[in-house]
Amino acid sequence: MAKHILAVDGGTTSVRSLLLDDKFEIVDIAQKDITQHYPRPGWIEHDPEELVSFQLETMRAVLRNNGIHPSDIDAVSITNQRETALVWERSTGEPIYNAIVWASRQSNNFIEKWRDQGLDPLIRERTGLISDAYYSASKIAWILDNVKGARERAERGELMAGTVDSWLIYNFTGKQRFVTDVSNASRTQMFNIHTLDWDDDLLEAYGIPRKMLAEIQPSDGDFGDLGFSFGTAIPIASVMGDQQASLFGQACFQQGQTKMTYGTSGVLVMNAGDTPKLVEGVTASTAWKAQGVPVYDIEGVVFSMGKTMQWLRDDLKVIHDAKDSEWYGGQVGSTHGVYLVPAFTGLAAPHWDPYARANIVGMSNATTRLHIIRAAVESMAFQTRDLVEATLTDKDLQIPELRVDGGAVNNNMLCQLQADVLGIPVIRPKVTEATALGAAWLAGISAGVVGGFDEAAELWNVDRVFEPQISEDEKEEMYDGWKMAVEGSKGWAQKVKSV
Ligand code: ADP
Repeated sequence: MAKHILAVDGGTTSVRSLLLDDKFEIVDIAQKDITQHYPRPGWIEHDPEELVSFQLETMRAVLRNNGIHPSDIDAVSITNQRETALVWERSTGEPIYNAIVWASRQSNNFIEKWRDQGLDPLIRERTGLISDAYYSASKIAWILDNVKGARERAERGELMAGTVDSWLIYNFTGKQRFVTDVSNASRTQMFNIHTLDWDDDLLEAYGIPRKMLAEIQPSDGDFGDLGFSFGTAIPIASVMGDQQASLFGQACFQQGQTKMTYGTSGVLVMNAGDTPKLVEGVTASTAWKAQGVPVYDIEGVVFSMGKTMQWLRDDLKVIHDAKDSEWYGGQVGSTHGVYLVPAFTGLAAPHWDPYARANIVGMSNATTRLHIIRAAVESMAFQTRDLVEATLTDKDLQIPELRVDGGAVNNNMLCQLQADVLGIPVIRPKVTEATALGAAWLAGISAGVVGGFDEAAELWNVDRVFEPQISEDEKEEMYDGWKMAVEGSKGWAQKVKSV
């Protein structure tokens, strides 16, 4: 029987398991949507038991549907939604609260409190992050403050706190292993990217006891095996947070290589090499530690990427399907000066303005829905340019080309616009499942299925290269208009009292 890799992908809207053969071709995918709980406006939670049971169901389904026995699996890889935080009892493994999802804002007041205590510069220096409720620390602090008796129990060592990878592994291994990897740890706002360990000064300032936290492993470290869940001791050979895994799956192994993921939200990630690099407006994280070597990244997150298409579809009702945006937007060659800034929930990197609100500007009575749809697609390209510009404020860095993935890259118009707006080639690989693939490659490397990074890079194949087609002047004129539109969106919720 040919050997296989089982790639576990614990996402935010769905959990999936992919079966890959020994050539890393995807044989099959099983998927299950997870329930999104919205207890209050701005809060998003997941049921921790569901995260485990649905994940296991998809793992079993993909084996069963393909007649594969667990002993035909060489290794398991795990990639997962990052920052989402859980707290559970050490003695029983029972969660004491739901998983608080990365996008949830219920812990904003901790961020303000820590800001008032003057912690922001220390957080930035130690963790590479810009203090925000998005990261795990404030979510764990919120659970400790809001669940009765939790703080005392945490101090007595009765509770464990972790990200989704830790929670899955803890359950998959029958509570034997309480571990995480450097890429997930570096998105908690508790991890020191210089020492690759939890930061005691920050933990003390946050009031989070170190004994609640998992043992940190390299991304190709020892995470236990599936003996408890599958009766066969298949090793969990790699763990990586989703964005870092997709950097890996895009074969961005050299410093400066950069990928952009156009999902519901958008994330630009650059391989920053073997030392952390702090660049204004964007964050620094540990990308992975593999074969003993840590690699760092620079990341910029945009809240509304593909989500803008969902808004056109579900709220504005001008398209039936996200992919229609390409056809409609293509009917007009230009927006004729119309811009849509999708700051529905504020602006993330590099603007960091929670009070910004979305706008559509520059309309005339010749403007139709086609121009607005095109402006929405263009907003994805312009937001990416904002991230690229922020990253390039460090004059040592260069981005000669951009590798792209995520649901929206099937949109050729978007990819062409992106090349035009950046003035560099945009490269779409054949397999755009970069996240699951990246973690699977690393598992393959550590299980000896792939020789190493060079061999993994050879598995990455180009589907299409989009070359820039507009002049330098046109490119800058388009972008100047965008910058003005963004300025108009900033601070809106503070300036306009009726918001
Ligand atoms: P996630 O992993 O964040 O759930 P995906 O990578 O699956 O997201 O991408 C889905 C997003 O991409 C949705 O927000 C959808 O609106 C958008 N999208 C999908 N196809 C297209 C397309 N052809 N053009 C533009 N946007 C698209």
